[in-house]
Amino acid sequence: MTEREREWVELGRTLAAEFAPRAAHWDTESAYPEENHKRLGELGLLGAALPTEFGGGGASLVECYLLVEEISKACANTALLVHDQNVSGRILATYGGPGHREILERLAAGTAEVTIAMTEPQAGSALYELTTTARRDGDEWVVDGGKTYNSFGDRAAAHLVYARFVETGSAPPSGPEGIGIVLVDADRRGVSVTPMGRKLGMRGVEEVDLHFDGVRVPASHVVIEGRPGSTEGFTRPLEVYNATRVGMGVMALGIAQGAMDLAIAHLRTRRQFGRRLADFQGLQWMLADAAVAVEGARLLCYRALSEVDAGRTSAYHSACAKIAATEGAFRVVDDCLQMLGGAGYFAEAPLERMLRDVRMFKITGGTTQILKNTIGRALVGRP
Ligand SMILES: Cc1cc2nc3c(=O)[nH]c(=O)nc-3n(C[C@H](O)[C@H](O)[C@H](O)COP(=O)(O)OP(=O)(O)OC[C@H]3O[C@@H](n4cnc5c(N)ncnc54)[C@H](O)[C@@H]3O)c2cc1C
Repeated sequence: MTEREREWVELGRTLAAEFAPRAAHWDTESAYPEENHKRLGELGLLGAALPTEFGGGGASLVECYLLVEEISKACANTALLVHDQNVSGRILATYGGPGHREILERLAAGTAEVTIAMTEPQAGSALYELTTTARRDGDEWVVDGGKTYNSFGDRAAAHLVYARFVETGSAPPSGPEGIGIVLVDADRRGVSVTPMGRKLGMRGVEEVDLHFDGVRVPASHVVIEGRPGSTEGFTRPLEVYNATRVGMGVMALGIAQGAMDLAIAHLRTRRQFGRRLADFQGLQWMLADAAVAVEGARLLCYRALSEVDAGRTSAYHSACAKIAATEGAFRVVDDCLQMLGGAGYFAEAPLERMLRDVRMFKITGGTTQILKNTIGRALVGRP
């Protein structure tokens, strides 16, 4: 690590210690960590990896995710705030124009949230089967359709909506053609939000269904215009998402490392059969397996992030990193819970929360199965 990277780790550790005492609260109350959001916004960390010209922190992705990993050890819900806003911000900063500057500055300052609205009820893994449309009407675009699993959608100022761009009088194209992204302010007429209800973990953040009914947006709000016969609007942002999915892996790793720290402390103090649990080889081997999984995945994740920082993005390396981190982390947290015995199953530990939280990352940011398809295709070539 460079000196600067070490400073980001230190900052992450300081914040993790601040956020730890209330981490259980956001989970049990399904409450948004508002006070943590405010603190992160004041420190400029909701735009940590955004260019300074937009009010961002100018951090590299490696630096940003060293911070996120540390926060995840204590409070994954809070780590997700940093991650998600940096993703939306990077889409706007990379592909947006002057019409997006104001929202980007507000996002970096922590006074406005912007969500990613991709998934639809009938277009999940097969994202390019989406049916939301943006139809041109003079100088405006009119958005119609519905989105689901929209994180932070209950409180966002705007949504980055994936839509099929359609010229007046023509039929919507199919497959990945004609897809683009338009920024839709949450308070525009025709936008409505429906809560999705209780979920397994990561309960400090809410997901919603979004509905767009004839929502008119100015042409300046188009982030990437979908064009007939072109798949660029769909494929270009994948450069940002390759990094995003690694970020999901890093959060899972942070939870796993946090779980290991708790398990090690427990094994050192709890005695059974006249010995410390730490002295049983079977448990040491469980810890060793956990360490191998975490150390290996960490290297894959930071290699993939360094590549993006260096201007090279690799779907293959990102997919390898995300699978190793999220699948490994789930097993590690489960094993750590086992090492605490009955105590691990109860909320005080708080391994049970960590196990529920870490599960999400095998689904979001590309499921394990879809990413295995990516790796497989890279190895044998696409038909
Ligand atoms: C907590 C949470 C937050 C989310 N936040 C957002 C958000 O903010 N914005 C957003 O746009 N989306 C969000 N999502 C949606 C997420 O990206 C999707 O859930 C994910 O892409 C999978 O889509 P799906 O749920 O429709 O599953 P499906 O696509 O229906 O897949 C179901 C199962 O089938 C498997 N499968 C599908 N196709 C294949 C195949 N070709 N080969 C092998 N296996 C396959 C999948 O791996 C999965 O196991 C969120 C989801 C969750 C759970």
